[in-house]
Amino acid sequence: MDPKTLQTNLLELIRRSSTDMPPDIEVAIRAGYRREEKGTPAKSVFKSMLDSIELSRRKSIALCQDTGSLVWNIYYPDGSEILPVTKAIENAIAEATDKTWLRPNAVDIVTGKNSGNNLGAGSPILHFHPWKKKNWEFSMMNKGGGCENCGIQYKLPDSRLGAGRDLDGVYKCVLDAVFQAQGKGCAPGIPCVGIGGNRDSGMECAKNQIYRKLDDINPDQILAKLEKKLYQDCNKLGIGPMGYGGKTTVLGVKIGTLHRLPACYFVSIAYMCWSDRRGNMTISGNKVTYSN
Ligand code: SF4
Repeated sequence: MDPKTLQTNLLELIRRSSTDMPPDIEVAIRAGYRREEKGTPAKSVFKSMLDSIELSRRKSIALCQDTGSLVWNIYYPDGSEILPVTKAIENAIAEATDKTWLRPNAVDIVTGKNSGNNLGAGSPILHFHPWKKKNWEFSMMNKGGGCENCGIQYKLPDSRLGAGRDLDGVYKCVLDAVFQAQGKGCAPGIPCVGIGGNRDSGMECAKNQIYRKLDDINPDQILAKLEKKLYQDCNKLGIGPMGYGGKTTVLGVKIGTLHRLPACYFVSIAYMCWSDRRGNMTISGNKVTYSN
């Protein structure tokens, strides 16, 4: 595919990701709306969310004013050139910013100056992965700043939580993270957890769980059980949407694992807000398929 056509397709991927809600997230928000009592702040918050989803989809405007940091995973046929693809992604991001599908979100840490086009040191975040397949796959997420501030990394054992180096310790960390996020990070959230790895790979593992569909089931039965228990128990905290109280504090809990160093046991939590925007594009020959 020529670079200009690729850029046009990438622009459409960004538009879809920033202005439309993935179906599984919308279903969960509708379920949350049905669960809350009539006349409560929780019910009206869910109603505002559903109105916002409908409006942004219809008018093709950003689902939330913070279109987040742009995190990409790109799977490419082994041996392909990736520099032109990097350039096409950057051009598409600058164009999407110009069209207001993205808010300018890249600020120079020393001067405080906003680059104005979402490009800068470490922006966007691109992870390239070669594979044996012939097609290209682009997955992206818009990771908002408010929920990013609620991300946290625990080092077990943790005496404050009484959390040891086991899954019960992990359970305590996740409940603590959700408790600490109340009133921040725009609940109902999705705590995405990476157990193990080191400081950076653990958080990357956690972030990668955001790409999972809410209704998927962890192939590891023990982790599937833990995800379910955490989902139920987080929702007993009563924090509710936007922290106004209610029955829905989280939309789901997702857990991934990495082997750990003998000396380390990290529990990394990437907290995703209700505005869980993600998009996917597959290019096979000249055929382009989008989903989110
Ligand atoms: S945390 Fe999410 S919903 Fe809240 S302002 Fe940030 S991006 Fe928007």
